[in-house]
Amino acid sequence: MRLSELLSKAPANAEAQVERFLNARLPWGKHKTIEVGKVAINFKCKTCDDVRTFMSGDKLSCLGVGDRVVSIDACLKCPVCKATVEAWFLVVSRDELDGQAPIVRLERYVDNRRGMASRVEVGAGTGTGDFDDLLERAQLAYEVQLGTGAMVYLRKIFEAITKQVADIAGIPTTGKKDGRKPFRNLLQEVDEQHHIIPTAFSGDGYKLFNELSEIVHGDSTEEIALQKYHPCRSLVIGIIQNVASDQEMKRAIDALGWSINQLNVPSSGAMAP
Ligand SMILES: [Zn+2]
Repeated sequence: MRLSELLSKAPANAEAQVERFLNARLPWGKHKTIEVGKVAINFKCKTCDDVRTFMSGDKLSCLGVGDRVVSIDACLKCPVCKATVEAWFLVVSRDELDGQAPIVRLERYVDNRRGMASRVEVGAGTGTGDFDDLLERAQLAYEVQLGTGAMVYLRKIFEAITKQVADIAGIPTTGKKDGRKPFRNLLQEVDEQHHIIPTAFSGDGYKLFNELSEIVHGDSTEEIALQKYHPCRSLVIGIIQNVASDQEMKRAIDALGWSINQLNVPSSGAMAP
């Protein structure tokens, strides 16, 4: 494959053998323009209000970083409204970067969307569901290895959706003396009536939530938070899907004008590795 195909898989940290793209070693600090095909990444374009494939030009700017590392800049453009997004890639090779067919990995990816576009693979599909923004923030925090930060966003979604379902179902969210009902109790009541915890997590749902809470509030390390990110994210996405597919909830949600029913989240709930 050509290097552009690998870069187009971002934000996935894919590894692949690619066609030669440097004919000589690129020393530290030296630039070279490379022609490796166009990078094409899907974003939800804010102006078009639809998913578009943002494309780079034919040439990309490549900067030498180390013997096996290069930094690549690209400016991606919406083919319809010409909105632009800047993208940066850090590419690492196993052996010689300027080899005939180097095996390279996309080590880091950062995009600067400036409110022009949002990620699509994170959870937003056709609509901008109430939780898309939080899911995206969780994912961005995870990508820059901020484990606790990612968990805080997931927990916000978990608590918000549980409270919203409770409101619709008429389950009181206050406990004795009008104080806030402990979340664990509220979740249990909501789940008993509306089965919001996905079957895959049944039994473990509360356990996972407790883990999640502990990671957010407790002594958990960043490393553990990062390890727990994918299962916790699957749990949260599963809950959103369950609520969205509950007919009674759906009618109430439609009446309220929320857009969660438009959420189009991948069924696996996990991003490509
Ligand atoms: Zn556009």
